[in-house]
Amino acid sequence: MARIHISHVEKDYGALTVLHDCNLDIHDNEFLVLVGPSGSGKTTLLRLIAGLETISRGDLYFDDQLVNDLDVSDRDIAMVFQNYGLYPHMSVYDNMAFGLRRRGLEKSVIDEKVRSTADLLNLGDYLKRRPKQLSGGQRQRVALGRAIVRDPEVFLLDEPLSNLDAQLRVQMRSEILRVHRRVDATAVYVTHDQVEAMTMGDRIVVMHEGRIQQVGTPEELYDRPVNRFVAEFIGTPAMGILKGEVERESQSVRVRTPAGTLPLSPEQARLIGVRDRVILGIRPEHLHADETGEDARLSGAVDVAEMLGAEQVVHFFAADESRLSARLPRGGHYRTGEAASFSVDTSALHFFDAATERRIHA
Ligand code: ADP
Repeated sequence: MARIHISHVEKDYGALTVLHDCNLDIHDNEFLVLVGPSGSGKTTLLRLIAGLETISRGDLYFDDQLVNDLDVSDRDIAMVFQNYGLYPHMSVYDNMAFGLRRRGLEKSVIDEKVRSTADLLNLGDYLKRRPKQLSGGQRQRVALGRAIVRDPEVFLLDEPLSNLDAQLRVQMRSEILRVHRRVDATAVYVTHDQVEAMTMGDRIVVMHEGRIQQVGTPEELYDRPVNRFVAEFIGTPAMGILKGEVERESQSVRVRTPAGTLPLSPEQARLIGVRDRVILGIRPEHLHADETGEDARLSGAVDVAEMLGAEQVVHFFAADESRLSARLPRGGHYRTGEAASFSVDTSALHFFDAATERRIHA
């Protein structure tokens, strides 16, 4: 069993605070992904959990034990890094057996653990090879295997797939998840790639500038981002963002944006209250190519139309250069620089406060 409880944790490097008031509960056996742009503090948080860095303020618990001052070697964790960290002069077998030998386990026990883990990772045929005789994906599997043989309560993975090509990365993602389901451990996985986060995480933690922005399932982050940052960070193509001015006229409330004016439903009007300005968010799948919805349209100048085979994504600029995207079925001609207009599923709009950029909740 391994729950991790992070309470008001902060980290300073000299005068610089790089993690601010981090609070997080990681559940037993879950696959949790830390995601955010470079420099947002993901690796630092992971290293604090590992015990590779000291906590400046706040508390860290494994189950109910305070571990702030517990040594790395006493934490029952295994780490997997992006650069594999394999011993080049040792065989695959010896790389995987190394930690177990150091712990003084019996030879037969080590042999059983190494071979069963190698089978789990389809490395059975490569046990005698040296790392340099392996492909990138195989090396990554050895690094994973070396962590798994130790049978830890917690796995910490720091961008473990970033050295692999795109196709292999997709394959290794599902392999890691498959292994995670088999090994009964809590996993914390760092990546800057939001697609990787969305496809792998039971839950995702979005970080930005040393602060946790939102914790939730992939669906929660996509459907109800708590602020503009999360809204734009999660989802490809990204959510379009428009500045809106609220116009009230007898019964009707509309929002004027640089791409068009949109009517609001009575519920949406109630939601935004007395605000004169809001930030509107619109996902690409909520713009449509049809000619209906005369009074709910957004228009602009086509930047580029990306043909994706089954569908296309049309990127266009509003009058103030805000970039919007529409995910459409194939067909129609969208040429760079030409005007284009799309109907809007206004019930799917997201609203953010113009000053705080936080989601406006009901
Ligand atoms: P991420 O993993 O999200 O890319 P990091 O956790 O590596 O971000 O870094 C967060 C911030 O802390 C960055 O601004 C980085 O420059 C800074 N930082 C990381 N390690 C150190 C260090 N050893 N000394 C000083 N600053 C550091």
